[in-house]
Amino acid sequence: MMLKLVDANSQSQIARLGGRVLSGGTVSGTEALWLFNLESSADIFDLLSWANRIREKFKGNKIHLCSIVNAKAGACSENCSFCAQSSYYQTGSPRYGFVDPEPVQEAAEEARRNGVTAVGLVAAWKGLNEGPMLDEVCDRIRELKATGKTRPDVSLGIIKSQHVADRLKEAGVECYGHNLETSRRFFPQTCTTHTYEDRLETIGYLKKAGIKICSGGIIGMGETREDRRDLAFALKEIGANVVPINILNPIPGTPFEKNAPLPVLEILKTIACFRFILPRQEIMIAGGRTVNLRDAQSLIFLAGASALMVGNYLTTLNQPVEKDLQMLKDLGLDPSWDHHGFSDQKSCSCKEERREVEPVTV
Ligand code: SF4
Repeated sequence: MMLKLVDANSQSQIARLGGRVLSGGTVSGTEALWLFNLESSADIFDLLSWANRIREKFKGNKIHLCSIVNAKAGACSENCSFCAQSSYYQTGSPRYGFVDPEPVQEAAEEARRNGVTAVGLVAAWKGLNEGPMLDEVCDRIRELKATGKTRPDVSLGIIKSQHVADRLKEAGVECYGHNLETSRRFFPQTCTTHTYEDRLETIGYLKKAGIKICSGGIIGMGETREDRRDLAFALKEIGANVVPINILNPIPGTPFEKNAPLPVLEILKTIACFRFILPRQEIMIAGGRTVNLRDAQSLIFLAGASALMVGNYLTTLNQPVEKDLQMLKDLGLDPSWDHHGFSDQKSCSCKEERREVEPVTV
C-alpha cells in the first residue's frame, strides 16, 4: 500500500485557518472548499484536531443532547428521496396519526432520566396550517412544557403564514427543526414536491416569531463537497442555532437505497469543516451515526461536534442512550448542557462575519 506523504504546506495552511477561526475570524468559501478537498488521512486528522480546539474554545466541554418523538408517522405527501415516510415509496415504515398525550409524556420522562435537554415532536407531513391540527399540536407542546422536564422542540414541516409561527411560539416552542437538507443546487435531486425557497420562507416566519432554528442537512445523498460547503454557508447565512448533520442511511424502497456509504474519514472531515465555518453553533450528529460510523463514533467530538441526537431516530435504531452517556463520560465531556438558552451564540457577530465571507452560491 502506497502511503501518501504529509504535505507540510497543507499542515501549515490548516494551522493558519484553524488559528484564525480560534481567534474569532472566519474562513472564506474558497478556503473552506480547500479544507473539504483534503485527502490524506494525516491532513484530515490535523483538521480534526483544530476542529476540536475550536469546539473547546466556543462550546467548552458541554454536549447538548436531544431526542425526538415521531408524533405523526408515515404516509407523507412529499417525495424526499431519502425518507422512509414518504407515501411515494414502499418501505414498510409505520403509519399513524398525530399522537395522544401519553407517548409524549413518556418521552419527556425518559429525557429527564437521561439528562436530555430537548424532546422534538416530529411530524411526517408537508406542513402545518391554521385549523384544528394546529390547536392539537399546540396542546401537546403546552403539556410537554408544563412537565418542566424538557425543552419542547418541534419539527412540523413547512409553514405558510406568520400566524402559525406565532401560535407555536405562544404555545412554548423555543426551537424548530427545519433542515435545508443540502445545497440549493442539489435540492431538486432530493425532492420535487416542495422547494428550497419554501424551506427558507418557513425559517423566515419562525425567526420573526422569535423561535430558534435547528437546521442542517443530510450528507451521502450523492452531493459534491462543494454542495456540502454551500450548505454550511447557507446555514450560517440563515443564523441556524443548532446544525444537525445526518448521514444517509439508505432505506430499501427509496430512490437512494443503493447509494454507496460515505467513508468514515469523509464524514469526520465534513463535520470538522462545518465546525470551521460555524464555530459557535451547536453541531449535532443525528441520523445515520451508528450505521455509518460504527466504532469511530466517538471521533465526532474530535471533529468538532457539540451535540448529539440520542435515542432512536424516526424510522431507524440508534445505539442505547446508556452507551452514548458512557462515551461522553469516557471522553470527559459533560452532557448537562446548562439550558443557557444559546447565550454562547449571542456574541456571534454574524454581520461582521458575513462581510469577510466570499460570495458563494446558496
Ligand atoms: S422528509 Fe419529511 S417532508 Fe420529506 S417525505 Fe419525509 S416526512 Fe415527508
